[in-house]
This record gives sequence, structure tokens and C-alpha cells, in this order.
Amino acid sequence: MIKNTLFFIVLIFVSFSHLIAQNNKCSSVKLHEQRMMEDPSLFSQIQKSEIVTQKWILDHPKTNKSGQIITIPVVVHVVYNTIVENISDAQIFSQIEILNQDFRLKNTNSLPTNHPYYQFTADTEIEFCLAIKDPFGNSTSGITRTKTNEVSFSDADDKVKYGIKGGKDNWDPTKYLNLWVCNLKGDLLGYATFPSELTNYKSSDGVVIRHQTFGNIGTAGSEGFTVNSIGRTATHEIGHWLNLNHIWGDANCGDDLVDDTKPSKTENYDCPTFPFNPNSCSGTGDNGEMFMNYMDYVNDDCMSMFTAGQGLRMRAALNGDRKSLLTSNGCGKAFLNEVIDANSFTIYPNPSKGSFEINTQLKNLETINIEIVNLLGEKLVKFSTIQSFPYQVNLNDLPNGGYFVKMTDGSISLTQKIFISK
Ligand SMILES: [Zn+2]
Repeated sequence: MIKNTLFFIVLIFVSFSHLIAQNNKCSSVKLHEQRMMEDPSLFSQIQKSEIVTQKWILDHPKTNKSGQIITIPVVVHVVYNTIVENISDAQIFSQIEILNQDFRLKNTNSLPTNHPYYQFTADTEIEFCLAIKDPFGNSTSGITRTKTNEVSFSDADDKVKYGIKGGKDNWDPTKYLNLWVCNLKGDLLGYATFPSELTNYKSSDGVVIRHQTFGNIGTAGSEGFTVNSIGRTATHEIGHWLNLNHIWGDANCGDDLVDDTKPSKTENYDCPTFPFNPNSCSGTGDNGEMFMNYMDYVNDDCMSMFTAGQGLRMRAALNGDRKSLLTSNGCGKAFLNEVIDANSFTIYPNPSKGSFEINTQLKNLETINIEIVNLLGEKLVKFSTIQSFPYQVNLNDLPNGGYFVKMTDGSISLTQKIFISK
């Protein structure tokens, strides 16, 4: 339980003065601690950030859902040495879909209503979209691909985040969540920067995930990463990127600065049987540790929840250090105001929940056809001889994921990618 501002500032100090041994699963906190030791101004920045965070949380009781969905524009930087590491668009789409399920409590393994911890599960009202506008306002797939001579990357030197070092520079981190996908040294799954680091370390802001644990198809789960094959490394790391700490507070029964997560003695692995470690710490209670939380270290298929308090802490970050994301045009908020080129068409909104509007100024209206094609090239739906635009399309029956919209007018064939996320 967080009691007052002074208390959690002391907590931060105590937490970072206990440099406990970290395993290789996630190095976000270790890196955060290292930066703070090297840069005293960062410590002061973290304190300021935490005060703002806690004030925002106090002003926004977690029992009241806001009803306002925050959508974060994402750019995925694929940095590859081998062909296998150059993962498919489909694998990237699968990761975005998983994030949207996990953060909105639409994951198929969410706790049943009769589970003692069901009452703590929460829809964070945060979603993710692949960017459709790059930092210069140009159309983009939201995916960059960079060939590198580096066989693998390390969290110690962060080379993957810099073009001059064989990686790829991040896009403006005040407008996008940068996700790098690459091969990592050792068995590290991924790492993230915290919101309080944005000001001092702008060029390294973002999340790095090894390709073997990214999404749930393609290379996900390969090369010995079977238990990390459902894409929840990204769910966990983006939790850090939005200011969440590990469930055990990176100390023996440490505090994660969230008041509705149960204290844990230390990190948990594999998939414990519920209830696990009853009363392991003061306040844990008879139902034991909340090992199924995304901010623990259990297997992907064992984790299933954020709490309302964690959701609130993340939304505090999106109204604090990461506030500028709320006005990002990365996912095309300015789309409707654009002039439509004579030989192109627009889709709005994109991503959508399945209903969207297609507009065009193509002239040969009597011959225009639109097809919806899946990523395997299979035609799913066809709309023939469309007479007028804007044309409303309803694909609510299609599952979440990426698709192509193909428009033909007899002589011209145009294709655009869409993403459905309900
Ligand atoms: Zn972590």
C-alpha cells in the first residue's frame, strides 16, 4: 500500500540500493538502476516523475473506468542478420493483436469469474496500432527493415538502437512506441526503457524483443524459447515502458508501487499451482502470490492479467512523461483532412474494429471492385461495381489481424494494408 509521497521516494531509494541478482529474462530494471547510478540527474528525474504519477493516481480512483481508449502508435524495427530473423509482417501483426488482447483483457486465458483474483483483473483501456504515418507525415506500414552485420545484439551497448552501430535509429519516441526485433545475445528475452528516462535518454527510448519471443507465429517459440511463444515478452516489456515495476518490486517482498498487486517474495518461473506461497510476505494473504500477473516471470501461457492499479499507473504515464503520445498522428488522426490523390484511395479509420470507410477519386466508377485478401493471399470478400464513394465496409465477422484491401478499376490495381482490432 502506498501511503505518501515521502514513503515511495524512500522506497525508490531502498529498491535501487538493493542490486539483487537478475536473471536473463528481462534486464529493464537492471539497466534502469545502472543508468541511475551513472547519472544523478536521472535519480532526481525519477523522483519528480513518481510524485506526478502518484498524484495522478490519487486523482483518478481505479474503480472509475475512463471510457476513453488510448491508442499508442507503434513502429516495429526489424533488424536482421539472417533471413530467418527478418520476420514476416504476419508475425508482427500477431504481436499487435496479442497486445490489444492483453491490455484490453480480451485474452482467452483471462481468469474465470470464480477465481479469487478475478476481481483484480482489469481492462487498461490502452490499445496499440501499427503506425500509418512516419515522423515526416508520409504513409508507412509501421515496419522498418534493416540488414545488419551484427550476429546478435546486447543490452549492454544498445547497438540495435543506432543506425551508425548496425542497428536502426528510433522514430520520435514522444510520438511512437519503438519496438526493435532482433537476435539478442544469451537467453535475454527483451528489455525496455522507463518513462522517466525519456528526457535524458531520448535516443534509446523503446523496447527491444528477441524475434524468437515476438508474436505467436513464424519464429516465435523457436530455438528453445517454447515457453515464450505467445508474445507476452512484449506485454511485459511494454508494461515497463509504461512505468510498471516487477510484481516482486525487485527486492525480497519488495514494493512495485501498485496497491492492488499482491506482494511476492521474489520472481516466479514456469507455472505455479494456485494458490502459491500463501502469506509469503506481509500482505500476500491466503491466496498467495499473483504469479499470473504479466509483470512476473512465469511462462507466457501462465500469465493473464494486469490489475486496475497497474492500468492506472500506466495511464498516469500516458498523462505524464508520455503525454505527447496522446496527440501523435502516427495512426492517422489527421487522415480525414488529407487531399486524396487521383490514383489512390484512403481507408479510415485504420486500424479499425472492422467497420471503415474507403474513399477515392478514381473516375471509372462503373468498373471499380474491392477485394479483401488475407495475408496468405486468399480472397475473403468482394465488393463489385461500386457506384459511389465514400464506401462503407463492414468486416465485423473477420478475426483480428492484418488484411489487404485491393481496389481495381480495370486498368489500375491498388493495394493497402488494413488492421482489424476489436
Ligand atoms: Zn521485466
